[in-house]
Formats: sequence, C-alpha cells, structure tokens
Amino acid sequence: MVQLFCYVCVETIVFHYSTLLKNRGAASAKLIYETMHDKLTGVQNWAKFNQDFQLYHELMLSTQINEIVLVAIDIDHFKQINDTYGHLAGNAVLTNFAHNLQTYIHEVNSEWEVYRAGGEEFNVIMAGIDQPSAQQAMQAYCQQLRDLHITYGGTVIDITISVGITKLLGNDVQAEDTIKRADQYLYQAKQAGRDAIIAGY
Ligand code: GH3
Ligand code: MG
Ligand code: MG
Repeated sequence: MVQLFCYVCVETIVFHYSTLLKNRGAASAKLIYETMHDKLTGVQNWAKFNQDFQLYHELMLSTQINEIVLVAIDIDHFKQINDTYGHLAGNAVLTNFAHNLQTYIHEVNSEWEVYRAGGEEFNVIMAGIDQPSAQQAMQAYCQQLRDLHITYGGTVIDITISVGITKLLGNDVQAEDTIKRADQYLYQAKQAGRDAIIAGY
C-alpha cells in the first residue's frame, strides 16, 4: 500500500514537472519567434534581416555562396493611402501586400525570405540566383501585383511598388555597403517615376 502511494506521488511529480518544462519551452519558442517577426504583417523583421544578411555576407566572403541578390522594395505613395482611407486601411494594405509578396517569393524559391525593413519598406534576400534572373522574377511580380485589389471597408485599394536590386560583391567590406547600394537603386526607381525596377552593381 505504502509502495503504491509512493509510486503515485512520484508519477504525479514527474507529470507536473514535464508539463512545466513543456510550457516553458513553448513560451521561449514564442518569445524567439516574436523577436524575429513583424507583429503587423507576420513576415520577418529588420533585426532578423540584419542577422541573416550579415551571415550571407560572411558566406559570400568565404566563397561558399557567390550569387546573393538583395531586393529593396517600397510601396509607392503609401502616405496618400493613409491620408485618404485612414491608418487602419494602411495597415490592411501592408498586411495584404506582405502576404502576397511572401507567397510569390516562396513559390519561386521556398528558401528565400521577405523582411519588413520598416514602414512600407520590405527586403528580399535571394540566394543562388544571378541578378538578371532576380530582376525578371521581380518584373513578373510587379505584373502580378496589378491583379491584387485590396479591399478595406468597402473600398478597393490598388498599389504599385518601386524596387532597387543589387548583389553582394566581393569588395563590399560590410553588409551595409550592399544595403546602401540597393537603397540607391530604389531611390533611382522613385526618381524614374515609381512603379519601376532599377538594378545595378
Ligand atoms: P514614396 O512613393 O516616395 O515612397 O512616398 P510614400 O508616401 O510611400 O512615402 P513616405 O515616406 O512619404 O510615407 C510613408 C508613410 O508610411 C508615412 C508613415 O506614417 C506611414 N507608415 C509607416 N509605418 C506604418 C504602419 O505601420 N502603418 C501605417 N498605416 N502607416 C505607416
Ligand atoms: Mg519609404
Ligand atoms: Mg513609399
């Protein structure tokens, strides 16, 4: 009888302890997920982009991967959407666009990632592709984006994007050098009238 009692006690303690460990594991996994993802759109965030891109830069320098393309994307006239339809409509546009872009990118290559760089700006890292092919992939996406009609509160909102594309170069001392270059091409796409893609290196 005493033995049975002890057995039940030990089993109960073991059960509660393993539940505690499982819960703690789930909580820390959730915390890790939240530090890497953007709350609004669900895509990966700027911190994760920095971490991943630094890693790609190091891999490129050690010549393990030699074709890494960085795509910088900015939604055109986004402020006007906020001003016309309200901030929540703007949020709906960001969420719909991020999901649409990520679905397309994952269809082309399931290992490529979309990141929200901040505001209405997004980045894509494409590894193992040459720059002309990356440009073609983004041209096809911009074409497809014309069919995305975002509805919010009974209104339909259409968007266009401007895109800057560059690749990691051997003489990019820091990952920031590549990011700056992608931003310069994105700026040129805006200067060219928006709804445009500019690539270079
Ligand atoms: P451009 O074509 O030159 O990129 O013009 P733009 O209007 O898209 O760019 P601008 O930088 O003038 O405006 C960006 C706006 O994005 C301003 C800011 O209030 C808004 N914004 C930033 N983050 C969020 C967000 O999380 N939600 C919403 N709704 N708006 C945001
Ligand atoms: Mg912007
Ligand atoms: Mg913009």
